[in-house]
Amino acid sequence: MMNEKVVKLKSLLTEIYDLERAEAVLSWDQLVMMPSGGAEARGRQMALLKKLAHEKQTAPELGRLLEDLQPVADNLNSDSDDACLIKVAMRDYQKAIKVPASFMGEFAAHTAATYEAWVKAREAKNFGVVASLFGKSLEFSQQLAQFQDGYQHLADPLIDQLDEGFTVAMIRPLFAELRNRLKPLLIRIIAAQQVDDSCLKQNFSEAGQLQFGKEVITKYGFDFNRGRDDLSVHPFTTSFSIGDVRITTRIQLNNLNDALFSTLHEAGHALYEQSFASDLEGTLLANGASMGMHESQSRLWENLVGRSRGFWEHFYPRLQEIFPEQLAKVSLETFYRAINKVEPSLIRTEADEVTYNLHVMIRFELELQLLEGTLAVKDLPEAWNEAYHNYLGVVPEDHQQGVLQDIHWYGGTIGGNFQCYTLGNILSAQIFEAALATHPKIKTEITQGEFGTLRNWLTKEIYRHGRKFSASELVQRITGKSLTIEPYFKYLEDKYQEIY
Ligand code: ZN
Repeated sequence: MMNEKVVKLKSLLTEIYDLERAEAVLSWDQLVMMPSGGAEARGRQMALLKKLAHEKQTAPELGRLLEDLQPVADNLNSDSDDACLIKVAMRDYQKAIKVPASFMGEFAAHTAATYEAWVKAREAKNFGVVASLFGKSLEFSQQLAQFQDGYQHLADPLIDQLDEGFTVAMIRPLFAELRNRLKPLLIRIIAAQQVDDSCLKQNFSEAGQLQFGKEVITKYGFDFNRGRDDLSVHPFTTSFSIGDVRITTRIQLNNLNDALFSTLHEAGHALYEQSFASDLEGTLLANGASMGMHESQSRLWENLVGRSRGFWEHFYPRLQEIFPEQLAKVSLETFYRAINKVEPSLIRTEADEVTYNLHVMIRFELELQLLEGTLAVKDLPEAWNEAYHNYLGVVPEDHQQGVLQDIHWYGGTIGGNFQCYTLGNILSAQIFEAALATHPKIKTEITQGEFGTLRNWLTKEIYRHGRKFSASELVQRITGKSLTIEPYFKYLEDKYQEIY
């Protein structure tokens, strides 16, 4: 028999979910469809929905209900939907009530101003334009962290918001080990003869690029009856329910890489969101386990599958058919090497698989130093350049290519923003290795353009659970081990040793 209080809890949580997803619809529309004249009213409307959702998230009624439900949860199987729902809802509630509503309001207004200033600072290529607001954001971030207790490092509560259970003490040694192992690999690659990727820099029609992307993600299993793919300035994924998951794509006519791999990336996020068990609909469990776990799925479909030789054995002839003029004379081998070219560069979002994590580590370290107070805001641009020189051997010419390149620090907290990208890469390889160990035929299927076995396994082991289990719990359940860099490093080494 259904517990009456569980029913009540679900209805309260669904109200929060619906307010959040209504806000997401407005945000999607703002980025994809809205004329610029709509900006001011849209900002007001979105802020109202956010405020209403936050009020419901921190309502004493919800707290009392969760309190009452603890004995119920204790009597349930700990893996059951209801037990997980009560546990996760309680954790969210206790974090949310520690932050005063007035603080959230002030921080939101400050963030909006900082974003505006960041746009101007980028145009001027001058961090100085936004430096004092950035300093204030840092204070807000430190305060936000201090509202929570029981943490070792000031960054821990900020990391915990996106990657629950991870701490600086866990991530720092993991990243240090990965960096040490990447170093000799990168040195070897740089010393080798460089790959020619000019075949990707021709003129490729928008219609052709969209057509090919659509064909591939349909094969991946993206369900267009429960999703859309539209154009936007920056590619992203959003979801309004399990039955309506949307991705966006950006086309560059003279760069085939950009739209292709960002579409495969966003499709990976979308497959996760479309595959939650329908029983989780409308609750906070209809979410990814963590940002790192979400990113592991986008990177798995983008890189481990989409940049593999087997994948292109199947799909390259089709791409040549769409772009005969550009690619008929380019061999599969040349194309495969071109899409996997490794080169130290300045921009994180354009980085290859080998150097990408170094971009992440630079930001992660700088965030920690800023929060700790060991790096002053005024010294940040120089610290950034120095880190790029040390990690990648390149130095930005201006602040736009440097410290102003990512939106994260100018659109929210400073701290907790970047670890998810490298955690995602590490997880992607560990998970893929487990999938191959269970179903060795996945490799052959990929060369036939078939992804059913892989997708079904991921759904069974990860996707359908939504947020019922943390990323660490999922990895433990799947592999019997905790997070480890071995499979990821082995993947990179095997792949790039062969290319370079
Ligand atoms: Zn992503």
